Amino acid sequence: MTEKPQPVRVLYCGVCSLPPEYCEFGSDFEKCKPWLVKNAPDVYPDLLKDANENDLGKVSERLQSVGISIDGAADGAASSVQSAGETSASKPAEVKRLPGGKIKKKEKQEVVIEKIVRNKRKCITIIKGLDLFGIKLSDASKKLGKKFATGASVVKGPTDKEQIDVQGDIAYDVVEFITDTWPDVPESAITLR
Ligand SMILES: [Zn+2]
Repeated sequence: MTEKPQPVRVLYCGVCSLPPEYCEFGSDFEKCKPWLVKNAPDVYPDLLKDANENDLGKVSERLQSVGISIDGAADGAASSVQSAGETSASKPAEVKRLPGGKIKKKEKQEVVIEKIVRNKRKCITIIKGLDLFGIKLSDASKKLGKKFATGASVVKGPTDKEQIDVQGDIAYDVVEFITDTWPDVPESAITLR
């Protein structure tokens, strides 16, 4: 089978009204580019490539800023609820020395609070990451148990990192308790999941 000859496409640039092939010789190729990418990408394949790369860049930028703003919004909501009137401004993160003088290698300092429900009614609040702020988990666990009059224990989480399991749903009150008890933990570092 022989291919039918393609009908000649009469196409003129919407910007400079030259045939697309001549745009690059026209008066303002830069202005033609967006039109060309849309309408005659086959004439200037490189433009398309550039445009795609730009778009990818933009998308990842956008994703990043979305991520940041989501975090920010969550923190903002938490802080307005938890500590209206409190002025404990978050301190800049600094390198923590563990007992023994070892400098903890740079790991994102973040306390994560998760609530899980086991057996329908039994709820457990899991607190991860206090140790990243140089807090001894066994002490923290005792304090939490006392404060919320419930069972609290240090256990090894799925990734072998130690975490504190607290019986009951204390996720909402625990943020304030943490920032009050350990001022080194800025509220902005606490994530409620
Ligand atoms: Zn043009």
